[in-house]
Amino acid sequence: MNEVTLRLAGLTKTYLKNTPGEVQVLRGVDLDLHEGEAVALVAPSGAGKSTLLHIAGLLDTPDAGTVEVSGKDATGKGDRTRTAMRRRDVGFVYQFHHLLPEFTAVENITLPQLANGVPEKAATARAMELLDRVGVAARADHRPAALSGGEQQRVAFCRALANAPRVLLADEPTGNLDPETSDQVFGTLMDLVRDAGLSALIATHNLELAARMDRMLRLDGGVLRPVG
Ligand code: ADP
Ligand code: MG
Repeated sequence: MNEVTLRLAGLTKTYLKNTPGEVQVLRGVDLDLHEGEAVALVAPSGAGKSTLLHIAGLLDTPDAGTVEVSGKDATGKGDRTRTAMRRRDVGFVYQFHHLLPEFTAVENITLPQLANGVPEKAATARAMELLDRVGVAARADHRPAALSGGEQQRVAFCRALANAPRVLLADEPTGNLDPETSDQVFGTLMDLVRDAGLSALIATHNLELAARMDRMLRLDGGVLRPVG
């Protein structure tokens, strides 16, 4: 079996603890995501998919449990270390593109590389190569507001892959698109994942899209269970 690139163990998360609104969202989430493996995360709205992905992507912390990325345990690490781990090893795609509105498509993909110390010329070259692969090179100098929803998500995929992460986390990446665009854009995402040999954990409501991945997990009652 391939190397584990993302290991989640015993993750728990409760919001509004000790208040009448308390929600126990995660009650012991365990997952080994292997190199080159694409896993679908399916669950109804409100089940905790975003919570789980944010914790896995080191954007939030669990109440208990561990997150290991590329064999390195993030538990108890400070913000600087967690940010460095995230920048190097994790790509994140949101349901809504979250591109910076004041910057062009190519700049949105260049910036995270500059933050990682890549020289500007090389960062721009990589950004253009990624845009070309997702078919949006002709729109490189447009700001996000001038792009279609599908193009915005394609640019967001490029940004997530800009620093060549090992793990891609995507939170309903085609959830805001019409069905036909969603299908095409999802195909682009899977091509990128397969070409780069990435591990991916992708939340989706769409069972047809989920079936295109290697396995499917359902977040049910705060734990992950295999589907099928
Ligand atoms: P999903 O992505 O599957 O729709 P979420 O992870 O967004 O689920 O939310 C899971 C549950 O946790 C929901 O009941 C939601 O209302 C609640 N929740 C999410 N974030 C917060 C927060 N910051 N404070 C309080 N409750 C939250
Ligand atoms: Mg969500």
